[in-house]
Amino acid sequence: MIRQLLFLALSLSSLQMNAQTHVRITSASADSVMRGRYNPAQFAPAFPINYPPHIAQWIARQVSPDTLRANILKLASFQNRNTASDTLSGSRGIGAARRWIHGEFSRYARESNGRLLPAFQEFDFNVCNLMARHSNVIAVLPGTDTADRSIVLIEGHFDSRCEGNCDTACLAEGVEDNATGTALVMELARVFSRNGFAFPRTIVFMATTGEEQGLYGAQAFVNYALRSGVAIRAVINNDVSGGIICGKTASPPGCPGENLIDSIRVRLFSAGNINSPSKQLARFVKLQYAEMLRQHMDVPSDIQIMSPEDRTGRGGDHIPFRQNGFPAIRLTSAHEHGDADVSKPGYSDRQHSTRDRAGVDLNSDGMPDSFFVDFRYLARNTCINACGAAMAAAGPARPDLQVQVSGKTLFTTITRETTYTWYRIAVRSTSQDWDTVFTQHGVNGSFLMPEGRNYYISAAAVDSNGVESIFSRELTAQTTGVQSFGSNGETPDIELEQNHPNPFDLATWIVVRVNRMPRFRKAELQVSDAGGRVLRRWPVELRQGTNEYLYEHGEGMRGILHYSILLDGRPLQTRSMVFAN
Ligand SMILES: [Zn+2]
Repeated sequence: MIRQLLFLALSLSSLQMNAQTHVRITSASADSVMRGRYNPAQFAPAFPINYPPHIAQWIARQVSPDTLRANILKLASFQNRNTASDTLSGSRGIGAARRWIHGEFSRYARESNGRLLPAFQEFDFNVCNLMARHSNVIAVLPGTDTADRSIVLIEGHFDSRCEGNCDTACLAEGVEDNATGTALVMELARVFSRNGFAFPRTIVFMATTGEEQGLYGAQAFVNYALRSGVAIRAVINNDVSGGIICGKTASPPGCPGENLIDSIRVRLFSAGNINSPSKQLARFVKLQYAEMLRQHMDVPSDIQIMSPEDRTGRGGDHIPFRQNGFPAIRLTSAHEHGDADVSKPGYSDRQHSTRDRAGVDLNSDGMPDSFFVDFRYLARNTCINACGAAMAAAGPARPDLQVQVSGKTLFTTITRETTYTWYRIAVRSTSQDWDTVFTQHGVNGSFLMPEGRNYYISAAAVDSNGVESIFSRELTAQTTGVQSFGSNGETPDIELEQNHPNPFDLATWIVVRVNRMPRFRKAELQVSDAGGRVLRRWPVELRQGTNEYLYEHGEGMRGILHYSILLDGRPLQTRSMVFAN
């Protein structure tokens, strides 16, 4: 994860693009596949798994915390993976590390009868005042169809750093940042190739170099894509993806306090607000998780759609892709151990220091036994990537739509990719998250919406396997009408009333009135902060008449909170309350 002079580094990116020379992919077949010039039959698996719900199930079964752990310990063993470190040693430095990653990709390739194509992407560039040849390591899983040549990319940087950004002598095991993301990418190359997963589109797994000094490896791949006419449909960057412990510091929006643990939430960062392809990709990944994968997971993840492209003052390898028009997101742990400001006196966190190690050796056998990375949490994050990438590689092309409003009814018409039977219509109002995703039969739909508000509406096509395309651009619309969601436009079935007391301290009562009991499986209340972050969500029992539920906020953050009643996960109504202590 780079820090320092990020702005300068980004503003110089066009210079860097020109300065990279001798850019090449070392495998001609990997190069041809990424350009869409190949015969898919040559790479067809003997026993393909191409039904997306089965793929999701296999992902949940086969991603292995043990493999992730073994890969992380191996990456740490290279001691220093600085981009400018040694390339000849067989056991230390970035050269040994990249050859080992390539060797593992080659092993997966053999085990899948040559379905996976490993390669280095080489480029010459001056890093740390050293003109040298650098290498990303890639593995290409060819798609089953060359009609749509766009590729899906899963990446994570494998270079590391300690306090000095060009220090090639220090211990820089780089475990949380970013052996976690590298191990994740490798695990997906293994699981996807050996199981015979088959998608219409090509998937590329990439471990990048040069991230810490200025996103150089990612920029090299962007340059290659632009020069070679490779269209990139989606990029998921993984950086700091497996740690669960909050440090003394963390870049905003950070974590609540030192040594607090979060192994449930994970953050998806992406650029833009309204009508941003990258933000739509983040929402797509979250939706695929909810619809395809969550049912197979022992522990559910809470995926947070973050507003900014990255933490304040920070950057990562998704950025060069977004800058060149490719939708790109970053997956990062909820808790980070440090803000990487190693120049600050007394900085004691692990990130960007020699302390970014696997864990603590409690019994002095030379191996850590208490880990800073939670391998099961990392495995869940690996599955989130896998499901998002698989569905992006499997689903249809994205449609477009028109929206009209009459009163509080939205009328939607699909105007591109019009041959599908089903579409999804995503609607959001006040947050980065979709409020709800409707299902529409045919190209025309109409939906009753609560309250007079501004909405952002987008659409996806659904194929015969039930897989959505990535969602379209967003259109805005404003509904008028009463603040309710009634079955016939008269008295609503359910009314969320104002909490009392309000403003409140410590605790308040939330009131829900049921006029007619609608059909549903699960009712929940949810409280979120002004930024849309869910603070608490819990199931409630609804009875005919007035229902009261105590919400205990405790001491803490003051200000406006939102509370919602949800039926089967769909927000029905939301109100605001004020916490003041
Ligand atoms: Zn990083």
